Amino acid sequence: MGIDQSEGRADVVIIGAGASGLWSAIELASDHDVVVLEAGRVGAGASGYAAGFVGPFADWAPYPAAVEHSIEAFRALDGSHGFTFHDRPYVELAETDAERDSFVEAYQPLFDREGYELEYCPTSELAERWPGRFDLDGFDGGLVKAESGIIDVREYATALAETARERGAEIRTQTPVERIVTDDDTVVGVETPDGRIEAETVVCAAGAQTGSLVESFVDLPTRQFIYCNLRVNVDGELDDAYPMMYGRDVWWRPEPDRPQTFLVSGGMYFLPERDRPPRSPPAEYLREVEGVLESVATDIDEVRIVNGSYHTCSKGSAITPDGLPVLDAPENAPDGLVVVTGVTAGISMSPFTGTAVRALVTGEEPMVSLEPFELDRFDDPPADFRVHEIEEMPSTFPTGEY
Ligand SMILES: Cc1cc2nc3c(=O)[nH]c(=O)nc-3n(C[C@H](O)[C@H](O)[C@H](O)COP(=O)(O)OP(=O)(O)OC[C@H]3O[C@@H](n4cnc5c(N)ncnc54)[C@H](O)[C@@H]3O)c2cc1C
Repeated sequence: MGIDQSEGRADVVIIGAGASGLWSAIELASDHDVVVLEAGRVGAGASGYAAGFVGPFADWAPYPAAVEHSIEAFRALDGSHGFTFHDRPYVELAETDAERDSFVEAYQPLFDREGYELEYCPTSELAERWPGRFDLDGFDGGLVKAESGIIDVREYATALAETARERGAEIRTQTPVERIVTDDDTVVGVETPDGRIEAETVVCAAGAQTGSLVESFVDLPTRQFIYCNLRVNVDGELDDAYPMMYGRDVWWRPEPDRPQTFLVSGGMYFLPERDRPPRSPPAEYLREVEGVLESVATDIDEVRIVNGSYHTCSKGSAITPDGLPVLDAPENAPDGLVVVTGVTAGISMSPFTGTAVRALVTGEEPMVSLEPFELDRFDDPPADFRVHEIEEMPSTFPTGEY
């Protein structure tokens, strides 16, 4: 299928070849002419820079069917188009009773789900399971999320693009959408530097750029932020049993193909309006990483950050005031416009996002109600809303190219 070149038309145009747009293409391509238009390369946005932790995250725990569908999709993709899913538990450490209680409360729908593996273990059990690995003094215990794994995000984006093509979608890279075109309050297509493509449905899955692409139709309450990733060399060898870890706002995990390296993620900062991310890691973040790794990971005597390994997504990520995405064909937007943005843990949840977009395009029943993701749940939030553990970027940080 794909685009009809002679007429420049498709049933569905998807803007953005990130995990959300590509899964939308995979879900729609079997019975629609789908073209994905991507400004850069496949995975040019957050999807190509993510830390590769796949698993259940607290924001998504109230939607167990969506979480379970997504992990099954990762396992099913393992071995296709050069993609590997490394099944690996993910341990989220809690310091206090209160933190433990809030984890257990947040994840309750997944604890209640039959057949879904999730447990809260006191530190003594964690020490038995991973002998000699962690110094858990000062912690209460940890949530052990077995339905999790590690991926290489570039490999993932490539495998999704290949799968979408196999199903008949066309993916055009280096093709930025300049404008979504409407006629009489109905979407009729998009404009690109190569010309207009007509379509009765346009799915705008442009990540942090979705807001500006749809701003003449709807106001999306999102702010842009970054996460900071870096690599750390360690003294010991990290075997296949080493879990993905979270403690005190720092995420770290082994790199399956680099036995003496951790990939570390965290350091979430709001980006000043349309600014560029910092060139080097904020000093506050580095101190946090050092502190957590040196105190918890017994394999590490000294944190040795791999030179040049710092990276973030230069386009930023978008977040909404409640940390949940907008997955909607908004009522006050032109007919035929589907909006996707603000997907946190958007790699982990991308298979679900694809099914949600399909439901919005076709009118089919979604696997979970999409009401919590509708745009009109927001009632004029302040432009500088705060959410989660994302901090304001201190003005001392150098910005610009990095
Ligand atoms: C450093 C970092 C670490 C992260 N770690 C994790 C993790 O470990 N696990 C996890 O689940 N999630 C993680 N995330 C979050 C996750 O990466 C995002 O939620 C997810 O990738 C969002 O996917 P998306 O497809 O919606 O957006 P994106 O991946 O940003 O895709 C949007 C695409 O649209 C394209 N685009 C923009 N404007 C236009 C235009 N005008 N025309 C055409 N194309 C356009 C962009 O080039 C981009 O390719 C992390 C994010 C970052 C930045």
